[in-house]
Parts: sequence; structure tokens; C-alpha cells
Amino acid sequence: MTDIDRKASRRLVLALVLAGLAVASLGLLGAGDQVPFQTVAESSDFQATSRYGDVLDFIAKLKKASPHIRVETLCRSAEGRDVPLLILGKPLPDRPERMKGDGRLVVYIQANIHAGEVEGKEAALMLARAMLFAPRPLYLDRLVVLIAPIFNADGNERISPDNRREQAGPAGGVGVRHNGQNLDLNRDSMKLDSPELRGLVANVLNRWDPDLVVDCHTTNGSYHQEPVTYSWPLNPNGDPAILRYQRDKMLPAIQKALGETYGTLAIPFGDPADWRDMEKGWATFSHHPRYVTNYVGLRNRLSILDENYSYADFKTRVLGCFNFLRSILDYCAERTDEIRSLVQAADERTIRIGNAPSAEDGFALEVEVKPLPDKITVRGYEMEIIPREGTWPEIKKTDKERTYLLPYFADYVPKRTIRRPYAYLIAGADPDIVAALRRHGLAVERLTAPARLDVEAFKITALKAAARLNQGHWTSEIKGDYQAETRAFDPGTIIVRTGQPLGSLACYLLEPASDDGLFFWNYFDRYLVPQWGRGFETCPVYRLIEPAPLETAPKN
Ligand SMILES: [Zn+2]
Repeated sequence: MTDIDRKASRRLVLALVLAGLAVASLGLLGAGDQVPFQTVAESSDFQATSRYGDVLDFIAKLKKASPHIRVETLCRSAEGRDVPLLILGKPLPDRPERMKGDGRLVVYIQANIHAGEVEGKEAALMLARAMLFAPRPLYLDRLVVLIAPIFNADGNERISPDNRREQAGPAGGVGVRHNGQNLDLNRDSMKLDSPELRGLVANVLNRWDPDLVVDCHTTNGSYHQEPVTYSWPLNPNGDPAILRYQRDKMLPAIQKALGETYGTLAIPFGDPADWRDMEKGWATFSHHPRYVTNYVGLRNRLSILDENYSYADFKTRVLGCFNFLRSILDYCAERTDEIRSLVQAADERTIRIGNAPSAEDGFALEVEVKPLPDKITVRGYEMEIIPREGTWPEIKKTDKERTYLLPYFADYVPKRTIRRPYAYLIAGADPDIVAALRRHGLAVERLTAPARLDVEAFKITALKAAARLNQGHWTSEIKGDYQAETRAFDPGTIIVRTGQPLGSLACYLLEPASDDGLFFWNYFDRYLVPQWGRGFETCPVYRLIEPAPLETAPKN
């Protein structure tokens, strides 16, 4: 080192110390703070969003500056882009097995699944920078944080000002909703058609087993003043303790802290139950596990849907999302033991129920939505309703602010429940079906000896294909009844026990009448009608209700 080098390096150290002090005083390292390098959103004064190359450049800078980050590949997209998965921790776990007994929670933040909804991408990059550059490591001694900032990379690269024109910026345009195969990735969690969802399940959920998943979006439609909206996992077949904890404790506390600590208002996600009359209530989205956050709930893990308000300007949305992510991590870092126990108890409960299911242990085949006991406050606007002869009225938002106290339709309750079986038996060992089950991470076995068993067989009474293609599928709606019978099963028959951590997911995938399972998504279509003649075949999936000794081996 020369003297000049030494002086230069001292100046650099001084600059970093000063930057650190600035950071320490603001504590955020968000936009406006003195930061070592900027996102595209920041450097364009929130007129543009990052392209794939910009994201990779930003990640390279993070890696160069810090030993506490590593990058894995979540998947290769249809168009050949490697989708980056950031791993942040201090110490940085070099592989997930090292997390055993670590004591830290694993939190996974996913952004840009709909690539027209881009503020999560910018906010997640800012968050990674904040965690690595804060004077003391933010969170990373308590949490290992995984971030997929650009989950739908192919959709992102179709940036155009013509996309999502109703959204308030960025002026430079955003990407499209679908991936490189024209699939909506937030409808793919059960059928797993896309490389992105297969990568999410294999390389994030099965590999790192995050305790919490956060999925970042932007709203479509409803009018309100709060820049952040959110949801918990909605499907009642997920672990009820996790659902209640998130709904009744965690998210109200995060909403409160988000307002008090960061000055960002939030409400639960929704749309007017009836656009013509706001007073009728606020309604959440669907219970289906094809949505990522609902799917994670069905896997007994915590999940949060983040929906940022489409009509807020881009800077407000990015900072709102950033603050929301901070509030979530603040909450988790304070309650690592509580959340870890919740998740462990959910797995143990699912295994225990599956190993000895009683008549009370049900699986909800049909659900309906009811209002929650407490109303919610929505800071909205007066709406102008202009009647139109013989058709839907014209509905306009006025500029007059109005606060509504509304029933919130977000309580999905079982409408038709069946008993949870001990195991499912699948005759035929179709490799596509076995692969689909294994892809989710389910333990799949095969019979090694003939077995004669008392089972329930599903007799189809009606089979209806959708009149319109849905995500590339003519989905099948199946109706029928279970009949008890004693039946001989050959060696090679596939066994999926429900006494495993993913037991609820197994039920959802394998019940013939399930509204989001493998029957619905056409995996079993070829087995449902006879080659000759009329009527229906018996479904090849049988329910073994009572525990029975089974001679099995893992199915590879
Ligand atoms: Zn979305």
C-alpha cells in the first residue's frame, strides 16, 4: 500500500463510518437514507423499475460488499433465465441442514410473481441492502432471510408503459402478469406446471423449509387510502392454530407497528363485497391453495400476502412495501421461539391425526366464506353510483374521503366435510401421478406384498369438464359417493399416508371431489371413463380409513 492508497483507504473508512452513522440515526436504509448504491427505482426517482440485468447487478454489489449473503438458483425460467434466490444470515448457513438446532427462523420473501406488480422487487432489494449495510446486522442474528426479488423474470422483461395502465406508475412501465409460458404463477401451486413453482417447492419450501413465506403483489381495483393490504392463509384445511395466530395476533400487531413505527397505514386485503353499496362489506380473495400463500398454509407454515395499493404512486408503494417487510421481520425477530413452536406443533398435530384419524378429524371438501366477528375500518371514499338502464350502474370514486366500518368476509368455514383417512391407495402406479406427488415433497410408498383391505371406493356420478380453458387445463369437476368395500391390492400399489407433515396437502391433492387437486387438474382423466361402453370407472384412488399394517417400501 502506498501513502496515497492509505489516505484513500482512510477516507473510504471515514466515509463508511459517516454513512454508518447516518444509517444508525435513520435506522432504515430505505430511500432517502445515505446508501452505498441505489436500486433502479431510487436512481430514477421512482420513474422506472429494475430489469433482470439490473437485479443481477444489484445482487453482485451486495455480494461484493458483504460475506453474509450467498446466491442460489431458484429455477431456470422457460426463456432460460436463472432466477436468483438470495440467502442472508450472520452466520450465513452454507446449506439448509446446518439450520438444524440453529434457533433462527427462516423467512422467505418473494416478489414479482406477477411481473406487473413490481414494488416488492424494489423493496426486497432495498431490504437486502438494509440488512447487510446497517451498522449492526439487522435481523440476521435472529433470522435467516431468503429473498427471490424477481420470481417471474420472463414476465419482468416484457416491461412496457402499456402494461397495467390503470396503475399509478412507474412511468417507464412494468412487466406482465404471466410467465414465459403464459401461466399465472399465482394459480400454479397445486398443479406445479411452471419451472418457477417447481423451483419454489423444490429449492425453497422443501429445501429450506421456511417458517414464514411473504408473497408481494399490487392490488387491482378497490379504492382506499391505505397503501398496504395483507392476508393470512385462508384455507381451513391448513393448521387451525397457525391460521388463528396469524389472523388474530400476528397481523393485527404488525399492522399496528407498521403505522406507529413506520407511519404506513394498512388494512386486510379486500374488495367491496358489492361495489354498488360499500356498506355491505369487505371481501377477501379465494380459499384455493393454487394461490401461493394459501398453499403454504396448507403445508403448516405461516404465510403473508402483501398487496400494495395500485393507485398509490410508485414511491409510496415501494416504501410502503419496504416498511411492511421491516415490520414483519421486526415481529418475527422478537418471537422466534413462539413461531418455531407453532410450526412444530402443527406438524406434530398433523402426523398424530393422520396416524390415528378419528371420526371427528375431517377434511373440508367444500367451504363457504363468512364475516369475521369483528368489523374492520377501511379509509375509503364516497362512491358515485350512476344507474344505467338494464345494466350494471356506472361506479365512480369521488375525492371525498369516508371511513367505513365494514364486516370482513374472510372466514372460510367448512360446508361439507369428510373424514380424514389413514392413507390413500392408488392403483396403477402412474409415473406422472407419482412424480406430481413427490414434487410437492410428499412421502410416497409402494406396497411390497399383496394386501386385502377394507377401503372406501369413490363411485363417480357426474364428471364435467370446464367449458373454458383454465391455465391450459380443461379442468374436471367430479361428483360421486364413497362406498365401503373389501378389495385386493397388488404389490406396487402406491400408498400416501396422511400421517406426515404434508398430510393435509395429500388430502387436497388426492380427494377426487377436491376443488384444487390432481383430479381437478386432469392428472386422473385417463382413468375415469371406460374405453368401451358407458358410465364411469371407479376412481383409482381408495381411502383406507382405519390404520392397518402395510408392507411397504419408499417409491422412488
Ligand atoms: Zn398479483
